[in-house]
Amino acid sequence: MSNAVATTDTHCPYCALQCGMGLRRTGGAVPVSVVERPGFPVNQGALCGKGSNAAAVLAPGARLSTPLVRRDGELRPAGWDEALDLVADRLTATAGAYGRDAVGVFGGGGLTNEKAYLLGKFARVALRTSAIDYNGRFCMSSAAAAGTRAFGLDRGLPFPVADIPKAGCVILVGSNPAETMPPFVRYLRELRENGGTLVVVDPRRTRTAELADLHLAPRPGTDLALALGLLHLVVADGRTDEDFIAERTTGWAETRAAAMAHWPEHVEAVTGVPLPQLREAARMFCDADSAMVLTARGPEQQAKGTDTVSAWINLCLATGNAGRPNAGYGCLTGQGNGQGGREHGQKADQLPGYRKLDDPAARAHVAAVWGVDPDSLPGPGRSAYELLDSLGGEVRALLLTGSNPVVSAPHAGHVTERLRSLDFLVVSDVVLSETAELADVVLPVAQWAEETGTMTNLEGRVILRRKAVDAPAGVRTDLEVLHALAARLGHGEGFPTDPEKAFDELRRASAGGPADYAGISYERIAAEDGVFWPCSSPEHPGTPRLFLERFAHPDGRARFTPVQHRPAAEEPDARYPVRLTTGRVLAQYQSGAQTRRVDALNAAAPGPYVELHPLLADRLGVRDGDQVAVVSRRGRTVTPARLTTAIRPDTVFMPFHWAGEGSANIHTNPALDPVSRMPEFKACAVRLEPVTVA
Ligand code: SF4
Repeated sequence: MSNAVATTDTHCPYCALQCGMGLRRTGGAVPVSVVERPGFPVNQGALCGKGSNAAAVLAPGARLSTPLVRRDGELRPAGWDEALDLVADRLTATAGAYGRDAVGVFGGGGLTNEKAYLLGKFARVALRTSAIDYNGRFCMSSAAAAGTRAFGLDRGLPFPVADIPKAGCVILVGSNPAETMPPFVRYLRELRENGGTLVVVDPRRTRTAELADLHLAPRPGTDLALALGLLHLVVADGRTDEDFIAERTTGWAETRAAAMAHWPEHVEAVTGVPLPQLREAARMFCDADSAMVLTARGPEQQAKGTDTVSAWINLCLATGNAGRPNAGYGCLTGQGNGQGGREHGQKADQLPGYRKLDDPAARAHVAAVWGVDPDSLPGPGRSAYELLDSLGGEVRALLLTGSNPVVSAPHAGHVTERLRSLDFLVVSDVVLSETAELADVVLPVAQWAEETGTMTNLEGRVILRRKAVDAPAGVRTDLEVLHALAARLGHGEGFPTDPEKAFDELRRASAGGPADYAGISYERIAAEDGVFWPCSSPEHPGTPRLFLERFAHPDGRARFTPVQHRPAAEEPDARYPVRLTTGRVLAQYQSGAQTRRVDALNAAAPGPYVELHPLLADRLGVRDGDQVAVVSRRGRTVTPARLTTAIRPDTVFMPFHWAGEGSANIHTNPALDPVSRMPEFKACAVRLEPVTVA
């Protein structure tokens, strides 16, 4: 509690900026109100509408408050023992009948570090299944793979957000923070006030693009060609940093050759970005004393997302914009704990501390912390979409928490069918999401203001969300659920319900790993406004800035990766002549499971739509507000048309927060990146048909 009126300092439940906020007790049906917390450095009191309205989901009518068990085809209230006994019995029976890997676990990038850690441990120790992954695979896994490939370590931003205004130029690729994380925009404004330049790459002239000195609007799926074209221009103009390349990198010759094969005129034809704009972007980037490239889901959610991010990293490395102050490559992580959620073991190939499950030394270390035989730990499992695609086949029962794939997964109609085909589905959630509606058992769990836990924001800063109010009677925390299930599966020890105990175990499990939390404690986080990992001991100051002395590869050098442009997995053709891209809007968050239950947010963003250019609308005979059918190889949806000149005439946009008729993810393509296994959310082919109203 921060003062006499009982305000609890905590953080927003939503995106990766993890804005600091205060929660003040009200005594009403909505038990707390959100107040500013100016002292937290990242947002300095500013909140967007999602954060300032977050308390509404705490109201009794907005959320679940009792377990539900399906009987006679209907979800009906049940007691906790009945529900947990049923879950344990069915998971045990499934493993007995089909093998341990027939029981799957699906987590989320919004779970606290403690939950993500214990969920991974639950899968590997209590269930001994390899079938675990999480929705963060859909979020920034391509950036993580490319960052690891180039730098030897993935931390979304290798510097604090406060460094961004000190750069001379920032290229923001496929990111719209003016809508997704508005308090972040102050750093972009400060950049320009300081004399720096902002280049925004986005097929749409978004609110963020409106702030830019230069807006490049490539066709969806062509960011890789764009980055190669910029590198070609930089090389041709003799603006590479040869000293940096020689002293701190390897692999330049092959990468240079790959870039020189991408002639700017060809890049102009592929991307649709005029050559003078390409030249201007290259000039702005090279004229700056220090420059940054920040990517988000636009370039990452592609079947070539890892190579696309590598191409942008190559541009940074070739110009010496990495491993020094106020310069470098960073990923703007999306989900609330998109960073920490990918570090501590809920990913299919991973153990805590960003260790690899196929590394014998990592298995031995973590097994010792867990008190199990390393040989008992399963091997790596399937990636998120592959896991969802296997439901009802190899995987017969699924425990899902913190995710709503009926809305958020690609090819969502198919994923919904797979979920329906399961022998048994149990969902832990705060609300009855579209995925929970399909479950055999629904477990109501506490939410952000009702429990304590750590998150790791987009900067790699580990922060503490504090409990402000008790959860309603009938609700349990995720840690209590895992503890109770583990006990029923024969593991009465090892699954603490106290989050600080879980965090202390996580610290030991991560010690010595790439994401080392050993020196981070709840006390230090509170005292220091968060601690940046790696932090190997209580005396270690934390690491706000990575790579200043050396990169994390054994030789200390960054790696260039030669990459080639290739088309999207599904290009427009005669039957499906238009590109569809997807994204978020200001007043909704991810699958909307929480924000669609908030009146103020629904008033601002009431429903789905398809955004298209008036030239395309004219060809189709569609007016603003008309119902339009969007048809892809994967489905048909009907939604209102929204006309705007802010989008390319060959591209349409749908926000992905809604299910059913307005679902964008009915259409998105599950083609996977070969390295990150990230699906291609950002580019697929559709046609639009006017809908005649009878
Ligand atoms: S920007 Fe993100 S963290 Fe901040 S208030 Fe909005 S949703 Fe919450």
